[in-house]
Amino acid sequence: METRAIIVAAGRGERMGGGLPKAFLAVAGVPMLVRSARAFDAAASVSAIAVVVPADRIDDTRELLRGLTKPATVVAGGERRQDSVRCGLAALPPGFDGIVLVHDAARPLVDVTLIDAVAAAAGRAGAAIPVLPVTDTIKRIEDGIVRATVDRAELGAAQTPQGFSIGLLREAYEAAERDGVLLTDEAMAIERIGRPVRAVPGSGRNRKITTADDLAWAEDVLGRRSGG
Ligand code: C5P
Repeated sequence: METRAIIVAAGRGERMGGGLPKAFLAVAGVPMLVRSARAFDAAASVSAIAVVVPADRIDDTRELLRGLTKPATVVAGGERRQDSVRCGLAALPPGFDGIVLVHDAARPLVDVTLIDAVAAAAGRAGAAIPVLPVTDTIKRIEDGIVRATVDRAELGAAQTPQGFSIGLLREAYEAAERDGVLLTDEAMAIERIGRPVRAVPGSGRNRKITTADDLAWAEDVLGRRSGG
C-alpha cells in the first residue's frame, strides 16, 4: 500500500535558544527536521514526504530539503499540533487512499527500521504507533502530594511515526474537531472513536527533543559532542 509521510515541524518552541523554532535547531550540525526528513527519504516503505513548517520558513525549508531523493512538499502549519497535521493532510494528493505516517520533526534520531515497521503494521491493522515500556515507577500527584502509584505494566510511552489508513485518520480528526478535543497525538483521535491502534516496539533512540538536556543527549548519541 502506498505510504506517505507528514513531518510536523511548525511548533514555535523557541526555549532552546537561537530564536529558531525547535525543529530548525541543529543536532550535530544538521537541523532536526532535516534529520527526520532524511530518515523518511531512506525508508523503503515511504513514497513521498510533506513537511509542515511555520509560514515564514517555507522558503528556507525548501532549501534545506534540496538533497532529498523523494518528492517533498513544504506547507505552512497551524496554531496547534493537530492544526499542523491537518495542513499536512490537506497537502496529500486528491484521491490518495494509502497509509499516512505522521512524525514529530523533534524526533530526529528515528531510523528506517522503525518507520518501515510502523508502516507495515498500519497497513495490516489500519492504525499503529511505536510504544516504549515505562521503566520508572509512576505516581499520581495532586497539589504536591503523592496520591497513588500507577501500575506501570499497563502503561507505555507513545512515540512517532504514527501510521494510519488515511480514511480512518480523516474520520477520527473530523470527530475530534467536531467535539473540540485537544489532541496530543494522532492515536488519541482514533482511540476516542473506539477503533483499535496496534502498538509496535518503540526505540530509545527515538526520543523527542524537548529540553537542552535532550539536545545534549542526542549529540552524545551521534558521537559529535565536544567537551561536557
Ligand atoms: O511541542 P511538541 O514538542 O510536542 O511538538 C511536537 C512536534 O509537533 C514538533 O516537531 C513541532 O514542531 C510540531 N508542532 C507543529 N505545529 C504546532 C505545534 C507543534 O508542527 N502548532
